[in-house]
Amino acid sequence: MLADVSRALLDLLLPQRCVACGVPGEPFCGPCLTGLAAPARRLPEPRPAGLPDCWSAADYAGPVRRALIAYKERAQVALAAPLAEALAFTVAAAVSRGHPAAGAFVLVPVPSARRTRRARGHDPVGRLAARAARLLSAWGHPAEARAVLAPVRRVADQAGLDARRRAANLAGSLGVPGRTAPGLPVVLVDDLLTTGATLSEAARALRSAGSEVLLAATVAATRRRS
Ligand SMILES: [Zn+2]
Repeated sequence: MLADVSRALLDLLLPQRCVACGVPGEPFCGPCLTGLAAPARRLPEPRPAGLPDCWSAADYAGPVRRALIAYKERAQVALAAPLAEALAFTVAAAVSRGHPAAGAFVLVPVPSARRTRRARGHDPVGRLAARAARLLSAWGHPAEARAVLAPVRRVADQAGLDARRRAANLAGSLGVPGRTAPGLPVVLVDDLLTTGATLSEAARALRSAGSEVLLAATVAATRRRS
């Protein structure tokens, strides 16, 4: 108890430090995350039916993992800047190397489950998509972010489900309300690729509303395979 109180006081008194290099200031400094970003095609095995081409900035491990958890679960919104830069860098790499004919496109964030967003008090992936679109446009890749996907029914907690059960749990859970599907090619964005079940469902919903899904980009991808 006393130790807990001491630790809480220390957290208040000591400045935050970068999880990667220890420099005081932000919990993950921009130069460190940019240095760790290694954009590449990372696909889950097995690959779910309908999963678009998937690119990610890094493996989900070490400092990148700690930064994503702090950003999502503890709402450390200062991390949006370096994480969005890593995401935008990944989309730029994917468009240049994997889809060189792509012109303008729309970044569509994968929505959080409603209760999750309410509990966390922020929209972590929507914020990353908006920032990444601004960066991409500044780098010469015309992009805008449009949050056109929405949950259309509740799903059970995905934790502990294998790839097949995740896919069944998510089937038909996302939709494009109000016929607002983008006419431009879509780049789906999310924070993390695990089994690919969520991105596969997001792609299905967009395609059934008439959109072309070019690829998916995430900040990180797990090495866990099931
Ligand atoms: Zn650092």
